[in-house]
Amino acid sequence: MKCPRCLNEDPAFFYRGSRGWYCRKCISFSRILLEEDQEPVTLSPPALRSEEYLLRYPLTPEQKQVAEEAARRIWHQDVLIHAVCGAGKTELTVLAIHEHLKRGKKVCFAIARRQVVLELQQRLAQIFPRARVIAVCGGHTQVLDGDLIVCTTHQLWRYYMAFDLLILDEPDAYPYVNNAVLQGVSRTSCRGRFLYLTATPDAELLHQVEQGTMCCLKLSRRPHGHPLPVPVLRIVPFPLDLLVLLRWLYAHRAHPCLVFVPTIRMAEGLGRLLRLYRPCAIVTSRTADKDTQIQAFREGRTALMCATTVMERGVTIPDVQICVYHAEHPVFHEAGLVQMAGRAGRTFAHPEGDVLFLLQEKSPAAEKCQKELAEANACAV
Ligand SMILES: [Zn+2]
Repeated sequence: MKCPRCLNEDPAFFYRGSRGWYCRKCISFSRILLEEDQEPVTLSPPALRSEEYLLRYPLTPEQKQVAEEAARRIWHQDVLIHAVCGAGKTELTVLAIHEHLKRGKKVCFAIARRQVVLELQQRLAQIFPRARVIAVCGGHTQVLDGDLIVCTTHQLWRYYMAFDLLILDEPDAYPYVNNAVLQGVSRTSCRGRFLYLTATPDAELLHQVEQGTMCCLKLSRRPHGHPLPVPVLRIVPFPLDLLVLLRWLYAHRAHPCLVFVPTIRMAEGLGRLLRLYRPCAIVTSRTADKDTQIQAFREGRTALMCATTVMERGVTIPDVQICVYHAEHPVFHEAGLVQMAGRAGRTFAHPEGDVLFLLQEKSPAAEKCQKELAEANACAV
């Protein structure tokens, strides 16, 4: 037996109800009977001229090359765009979306996190001004069809075999990564090709590239052309590391500083300590007014933030300087460290930034991260 929606084959998850066998692995979406034929969801074709696009800034020659190559290759096989943090991933998909809409194909842009869906919907609506770009996520599920659909991976179960192109942004991010149900549901929502976007592809994606079932396009340079900030690693035992941190904060007092810590408890403890020095926002998964805090930090009203990995992706703070405190902690894996370092130097006005990893002991993940970023810079030259 195999669930037609989440592709589960584990017999432990199949139950027999009064109407027949059903899958309990994906039951949180809705009950699905295995013996009933699943009908593909039919969506209306995109409107005429919905493919017309308008970019605020022209693509750089490197972006253009990757975007064109992706738009061409995607008709023949799945594509992975491996672009460094801050390389402008969304823009790289514009040509592929354009070509698909022009041919009357259905395109979906799926992301793991809800907050990013709403931001991306607005951005894509600006890029494709004639298209009806809809956001589908928790709290926004009344309208399910548009010329271009932006949704969380949690909503893909509504679109059985509906899409010709599924763009999956950051498939290595929580909660999509290692989630068999979400991955199965995304497979069965697409009858056509997959386009993956990430700065930190996981082993599974790289395996598909190695096997030749997927083509990988790399972009190692940010649009402003400056190299990626490479972290400086310093091993300093506690409590001396606190002094080093304070000295680093003082040296960067003219810029917003973001300190990553491994646990919520440490974020609260260190955040409170830093408040003795200057106002400090504390952002963790438990923070109720997260959006307000991030906005205040982005606008420079708070100059200091202490956060857990909830801040590692999807945020751009102009001129931010990054410190990872206890960077040797097991919650900080290589991909996460690359993403955290990737918060620095993202904007044209502030293309550079300082990244410091403070460690208690040697950490292979931190060393690999440093090496990877240095190599990406070498490739970009
Ligand atoms: Zn299932």
